[in-house]
Amino acid sequence: MNRKIVAIVRYEKPLESVRRVIDFCAGLDGIQSKARIFIKPNIPFWTTASVFPKWGVITTSRVVEDTVRILKERGFDNITIGEGMVIEPNDRETPAHAFESLGYHVLKRRFGVRILNIHERTFRKVNLGSGVAVNFNTDILDSDFVINIPVLKTHAQTVVSLGIKNLKGMIDMKSRKKCHSAHPEKDLNYMIARLPNNLPPSLTLLDGIYTNERGPGYEGNIRRTDILVASRDLLSADKVGAKILGYEPSEVPHLVYAARVQDRPLNFSDLEIVGERIKDVASFHEYNFPYNEDGTLPRSMEKMGIKGLSYRQYDLTLCTYCVVINSVILRAIARAWKKRQGRPWDGVEVLTGKKMRPMPGNKKTILLGKCIYQANRDNPDIKEMIAIKGCPPEPRAVVRAFNQAGINLDPAIFERMDEVPGLFMKKYKGKAEFEESFFKSSLPN
Ligand code: SF4
Repeated sequence: MNRKIVAIVRYEKPLESVRRVIDFCAGLDGIQSKARIFIKPNIPFWTTASVFPKWGVITTSRVVEDTVRILKERGFDNITIGEGMVIEPNDRETPAHAFESLGYHVLKRRFGVRILNIHERTFRKVNLGSGVAVNFNTDILDSDFVINIPVLKTHAQTVVSLGIKNLKGMIDMKSRKKCHSAHPEKDLNYMIARLPNNLPPSLTLLDGIYTNERGPGYEGNIRRTDILVASRDLLSADKVGAKILGYEPSEVPHLVYAARVQDRPLNFSDLEIVGERIKDVASFHEYNFPYNEDGTLPRSMEKMGIKGLSYRQYDLTLCTYCVVINSVILRAIARAWKKRQGRPWDGVEVLTGKKMRPMPGNKKTILLGKCIYQANRDNPDIKEMIAIKGCPPEPRAVVRAFNQAGINLDPAIFERMDEVPGLFMKKYKGKAEFEESFFKSSLPN
């Protein structure tokens, strides 16, 4: 059997460690120097408002820059870096700020690398099979070779977010929302498992210098792990990445679907590990924030003594745009509770996503977002409906709706939502292993 090679190396030195992991898996062998190379990092989120924790959230600039330098050494001249972060539809400023801050423009000036915000580019409808079609960025589809560089992290909805999941950043916003379908079978895992179907040949390089427990965002528990994993086979890289984070591939639904689509085994029988052994580098990373026993509140909020509120954990149908405001709402509720002096709220429940239904015993039901409003607008089990119909919900409408339910959220938190990520920086103060320099160019400007 022709086994897929997966290389694992410890990150020790700039340039050398990336070179080793690429060489160990013959990552660039046989690629013509004239090939159009497309590099896909993982920059799911950015804000211009504050310095925020990028460790374990965003691909390190160190690994991106080293990859570009290795490509240049080997004579590749046609290199593009492209990303489609989660932003407002017409926001051009935030991606430009991200690319500049991460040092990508130094790569442009020094090596002629093209830097693309894919939301400004064209998309092509791609049929992924089984009736699934999405609009894929044409630059990546028309490239000759893709270098996919996600972060080695867990994900609250998809268990892990590695090479396959990273491709979701290459589809347009409409398609992303579609991925969070309420279809009983064609759910998020089903959809993302098919994203690699039309991809050109690729090298996956998992950046595990920093790993993220309870990812994918800055709220997670970030660890300095110093691991790089690479393979010319995307599914093999992800199977190994999942195992390093503590999950059998069979425990990761989108890997189960992907193996089925590709008629491949879920175990490691079709791959060969080169370099470090998995068991020597693996460490268990939880993927989800814990909830109380009946699933009605995050455990941290239950511990605060919050009463009279049910806020269930969001499911696969909640898309990223709603996830962002959802986490700000939870933060605002925790603050509002501190002013209540233990007085319970009046039987309020919050429904999110596309499928949730009201639970008995609640007096007021807040429907967060257009989708859940449409799913429940005629639901006779809702006593008092408070709908926030936006897609995604508009912050002022959120504050109004919660106030109507008797939960007085501080509007200032929502007006300065962009500054919330910066508040997490204090967790890392004085911890030398969290180096901001990993997200800057090492080359003279
Ligand atoms: S309302 Fe929320 S979950 Fe529904 S499509 Fe819009 S952003 Fe996604």
